[in-house]
Amino acid sequence: MRIGGIEAGGTKIICGIGNEKGQIEKKISFPTESPEIVFEKINQFFAGEQLDALGVGTFGPIDVNRKSATYGYITSTPKPGWKNIDVLGELKKQFNMPIGFDTDVNGAALAEATWGSAQGLNSCVYYTVGTGVGVGVFVEGSLVHGLLHPEAGHIPVKRHPADSFEGFCPYHKDCLEGVAAGPAIEKRFGVKGHELGKEHEAWQLEAYYLGQALVSTILLLSPERIILGGGVMHQEQLFPLIREQVRSTLNGYVQHQMILEQIDQYIIPPALGDDAGLCGALALGLQEYKAGR
Ligand code: ADP
Ligand code: ZN
Repeated sequence: MRIGGIEAGGTKIICGIGNEKGQIEKKISFPTESPEIVFEKINQFFAGEQLDALGVGTFGPIDVNRKSATYGYITSTPKPGWKNIDVLGELKKQFNMPIGFDTDVNGAALAEATWGSAQGLNSCVYYTVGTGVGVGVFVEGSLVHGLLHPEAGHIPVKRHPADSFEGFCPYHKDCLEGVAAGPAIEKRFGVKGHELGKEHEAWQLEAYYLGQALVSTILLLSPERIILGGGVMHQEQLFPLIREQVRSTLNGYVQHQMILEQIDQYIIPPALGDDAGLCGALALGLQEYKAGR
């Protein structure tokens, strides 16, 4: 089986072809320019390829409600030129096959549940901590949509007493994304995260905020795994700090061995590494194919 995948990010698009095992055969990447240029490049990449399904994991906000007139659209994004763009409709003009469509992070959660760190489990939550914070939610075997789709990157967090940075979210200032995404680190300390030493106080702050978000996630959804990806999570020293923050905040309340004894296998990096997003698109294509749509 051959599946096409499109991972659409705010800065770059990755297109690839893979199979039902999540193995990638080839891929390319190009900048997220205007929709006209992007659709042209997508068509060029897949031209002449024999595919059984296509999957799209995209930045948002997007419309994932199949009953909606704007299903398959990127909706209220602030990204210039991309507001109210019918992504699925454009692709359907070119590709006559099942096409899966969801957020990039829901795709990544599904891919990790299908092939990666949460393989065989019925639930997992996927966080990406990069230019923003995005959260994909896979519960009882399904991706969660609800009203729109989860936007847990914007949940409120309690401020660290020593943190005077006001936060950079244009809607909420100091929501999780506003204080913990890559740009928050850069604005707070004046240099990019990868230039800070492993012992820098930035990582304690980062763990303080991400740990709170994970506690809320655990209490609300009780996921079987929490996977943390994205550029900022390349700082591997964050994992033990976040796990400690989660354990100390929960304070023994959630009596499960995954938290009490095996938290290092519970809060983990993506097994699919930096391919989690593209594999997410493949997994969305595979899901659509299997559903017979
Ligand atoms: P995007 O969110 O655009 O898909 P990334 O996940 O790579 O891309 O996130 C980019 C953000 O992550 C930037 O703010 C960048 O400074 C930060 N970042 C990338 N790599 C690292 C790193 N190794 N350590 C700390 N921060 C990083
Ligand atoms: Zn926000």
